Amino acid sequence: MAERYDVLVIGAGPGGYVAAIRAAQLGMSVACIEKRATLGGTCLNIGCIPSKALLDSSELYAQAKSHLDKHGIHVGPVRLDLPAMLARKDRVVKSLTDGVAFLFKKNKIASYIGTGRLMGEGKVAVTGANAEETILEARHIILATGSEPAGLPALPFDGSAIVSSTEALSFERVPQSLIVVGGGYIGLELGSVWARLGAKVTVLEFMPRILPQSDGEIANLLYRSLLKQGLAIQLQTKVTGAGAQGGQMVVDAQHEGKDVRFQGDKVLVAVGRRPFTKGLGLSEVGVQTDERSGRVLVDENFETNVKGIFAIGDLIEGPMLAHKAEEDGIACVERLAGMKTQVHYETVPSVVYTWPEVASVGLTEEQVQSSGRDYRVGKFPFTANPRARCMDETEGVVKILADAQTDRVLGVHIFGPRASELIAECVTVMEFAGSAEDIARICHSHPTLSEAVREAALAVGRRAIHI
Ligand code: FAD
Ligand code: NAD
Repeated sequence: MAERYDVLVIGAGPGGYVAAIRAAQLGMSVACIEKRATLGGTCLNIGCIPSKALLDSSELYAQAKSHLDKHGIHVGPVRLDLPAMLARKDRVVKSLTDGVAFLFKKNKIASYIGTGRLMGEGKVAVTGANAEETILEARHIILATGSEPAGLPALPFDGSAIVSSTEALSFERVPQSLIVVGGGYIGLELGSVWARLGAKVTVLEFMPRILPQSDGEIANLLYRSLLKQGLAIQLQTKVTGAGAQGGQMVVDAQHEGKDVRFQGDKVLVAVGRRPFTKGLGLSEVGVQTDERSGRVLVDENFETNVKGIFAIGDLIEGPMLAHKAEEDGIACVERLAGMKTQVHYETVPSVVYTWPEVASVGLTEEQVQSSGRDYRVGKFPFTANPRARCMDETEGVVKILADAQTDRVLGVHIFGPRASELIAECVTVMEFAGSAEDIARICHSHPTLSEAVREAALAVGRRAIHI
């Protein structure tokens, strides 16, 4: 007889594994099916974690090469040991994927390694590595199969010269030159990694600016900073094709109506991701997807049009971010348990882990402007922040947008050192529907980077102290 569970999750990424753990905490019997041999999904295996491990390592390398001198530390010739750097990254990944396996055991979650396929009401087939099939049954099935690189028809991935982020996390050698198609999260993060390690990186972006969804002023500051760091960035450049020539890759593109050509050892295509539903059996059981984006359509309970089948994370609408997937997972199972949990998508923060980092929450200035409401802006530069001076990391600014009448914080955009950590305070304030005055009245430790957030809040009321 088939094993029967209260909740069966397909996909063990941050959406799926967090949903599984929360369901187990709520007393449900839970199983999770994952086709990869390790748990943690894109995020832990080939996404957030390995990319951040390389960003941190390459940042230290760049610091050792050109920044430590300023602190009076002379280290002599700095040598890159790429295999050791990659091995460290792999160890970080392993420690965290093993950690999820431990949490599954601790929470008594049955873990199936194999590919899950919907078989109709309450039934899922799991196909293992040797094609053996197991049938599982569940009251609730949660689809959490994530996303995959979107790619471009003109530049099909070949896994070696034209690659996705997955291969760009493990280049065996630093390419002399790397062409990056797409000036979004992946292009700028992995472009930064390889530029710091010595590659000549050229980013080709289709739009007139990098990070097209983010606050324009902040994106422009990052753009100028990356140019200073040695990346070449070609905006308004539409890639039309690619081919090999003399051992190199040649990428053809159009820029302002003219044909242009770029040469590099490798091409990283990072033009977005699309939901991954291959082999899941969606159409067989009638689960509806959005025709244009391919995302699974769900209601406020994360339930699809087929009763008992739910979907979360990158598979459904919203930003394709790990922390958003986690929130979906928790809300989905808490709602199954009768709780009224809601995800506040408008306060999901986003971070681009370049150096300096870009972190945002809420509306961009462009969005506030187009909403037609009156607003005020408070800005404070890190040059005037004592801790940033101590660190010798004074590039960047905190920008707070607040409603002119109510002073409610509408959006915060930070370009600066450790912006990824600073944004948490702003998310908290926005979650509590707080005002710029609220941030301005909170005592912040001195000397910390967070004082720049407070000063930006004071600047909304035209009363910043230290500038
Ligand atoms: P996924 O993490 O994609 O997990 C889905 C899982 O389902 C996978 O393990 C897959 O193998 C499995 N699966 C698929 N089909 C089946 C099936 N039929 N049967 C069984 N298993 C199946 N986000 C951030 O918030 N911060 C970051 O810093 C960040 N960095 C990133 C860097 C890179 C290079 C990439 C590619 C992504 C990054 N992301 C980041 C995005 C983040 O990884 C995703 O938003 C997140 O992983 C989505 O979680 P998920 O659970 O929806 O899906
Ligand atoms: P992206 O959506 O962030 O950026 C894609 C970029 O490619 C955009 O700027 C777009 O204008 C450009 N583009 C699209 N078509 C193009 C073309 N034909 N030629 C040139 N440029 C083109 O996508 P991504 O960088 O591939 O990342 C995928 C997703 O993964 C992100 O949207 C994000 O959700 C997630 N991610 C998050 C992080 C993070 O949180 N730090 C890091 C990496 C990835």
